Amino acid sequence: MVSWGRVWSGAFAWLAWTIVYGIIGVILIVVGVFVVGGSLNNLIFSSNLTSGHFYNSNLFAGFIFILLGWIIIAIGVIASFFKINSEIISEEVNHSQPIASPPTDYCCKTCGAIVSPNQKYCPECGRQLDWT
Ligand SMILES: [Zn+2]
Repeated sequence: MVSWGRVWSGAFAWLAWTIVYGIIGVILIVVGVFVVGGSLNNLIFSSNLTSGHFYNSNLFAGFIFILLGWIIIAIGVIASFFKINSEIISEEVNHSQPIASPPTDYCCKTCGAIVSPNQKYCPECGRQLDWT
């Protein structure tokens, strides 16, 4: 059973990664919005067709920036969730492994009673214990 403390620390780690990816994504989106806004501004107010064409490619680049920003946020948030989630799960699996597989060697082969490996005779049925 995973402890609440471990889950909370995982949640905080996820939050920290979300902020990191969020900041990177927001920077890209803001840059994209400024590029789009600037190029639209120039596209509307520019009477020159050649400069209009130049800003049109800037408009496309701006949209790419905005799209990349959203992708980084979405993928970053999901990826960091999976990373922390799998870390917690692998820790839990490692912790519970000794419990999941009991030492079958320390059972009496005749009656199945749990015995310590240094005993020569089973305390339950009295048969000699064979550890070979
Ligand atoms: Zn026995």
